[in-house]
Amino acid sequence: MIKNNECVVLITSGNIKYYSKKGYSCIIGEKLSLDISEVSKMSHNLIIAICKLCNNEVNLPYSKYNINYNRGGFYSCKKCSSYKRKKTNIIKYGVDTIFKRDDLREISKKWMSSIEFREKSINTQKEKYGCLYTETEDFRDNISKSIKKIIKEKKENNTYECYLSLPENDKLKKEAMFVKYGNECSFLVPEIKEKIIKTNLERFGHISPFGNNEIQVKIKNSINRSKVDLGTLDLFKVYRRKIRYHTKLIRNKVFEEWDGYDYYDNEYIKDYLNLHRTDNKYPSIDHKISCFYGFLNNLPTTDISDISNICITKRILNCQKGYLNENQFIELNNMFL
Ligand SMILES: [Zn+2]
Repeated sequence: MIKNNECVVLITSGNIKYYSKKGYSCIIGEKLSLDISEVSKMSHNLIIAICKLCNNEVNLPYSKYNINYNRGGFYSCKKCSSYKRKKTNIIKYGVDTIFKRDDLREISKKWMSSIEFREKSINTQKEKYGCLYTETEDFRDNISKSIKKIIKEKKENNTYECYLSLPENDKLKKEAMFVKYGNECSFLVPEIKEKIIKTNLERFGHISPFGNNEIQVKIKNSINRSKVDLGTLDLFKVYRRKIRYHTKLIRNKVFEEWDGYDYYDNEYIKDYLNLHRTDNKYPSIDHKISCFYGFLNNLPTTDISDISNICITKRILNCQKGYLNENQFIELNNMFL
């Protein structure tokens, strides 16, 4: 329904013929006050339409009102459009959505996979956004929001499975790595390692992202801000002291049983024990699950200082790993391939 039937029309070279034919004597530039029923159905004149379903009032061109009206024989606003579509579908096809009918679904599938449909869709998007919708900021925003939402829901329902972390995928990944490079771990393939180092140097000015001061500060700040206030910082120090104490007790045993290889990049580093303790290459003890992670997650200190959680790596890798866990560290390094 249209709220106000009276409408002011500006006579232009485009519509003068139409109104002259209707019996109005008018000149270009003149404004005619007309009843809406007299106005051309294609007119861009703004009117106030009333939604038949919710009585919402909407300003829109008369031409658009007519297109909407002709779909189902009444006007409905955007908000009510899905209801209207269902209603029209029931009248037309006997179902509220065409996907409930196999034949229509087939037709729709064929149409949507046609070149004509693709071209039409691309043109519409370019007209509306100036580029493809997937290239807009809006799209990127929406997609990351909706993915985050889906993951959150799945995590809450305990149905979340990170595709990459599925055991079968991990196996596939390792197999593919082995076939291509003769090694399962990218860290141990010289050409990949070189590439990682090169990219990291370009991006971070350091062989690893964790060597970059900015990133170190960011990681520390995000962990500190989100999980730890000053009071708990003291508790953390106590927690860490306990782990250090227990680790010291088994330190000699760990070194005695050690095969001499760096746990993370598999370099033979036993000879580096002759270097000064502060040398970047000096072998050092690392907790695979970090003290910080253990503290945040209330793990017993004895779990962290357990011999199974201890490995030996070069001092520099240990520093880079910082608060991270073994997996996070390896994953992050792989990420910069
Ligand atoms: Zn409505």
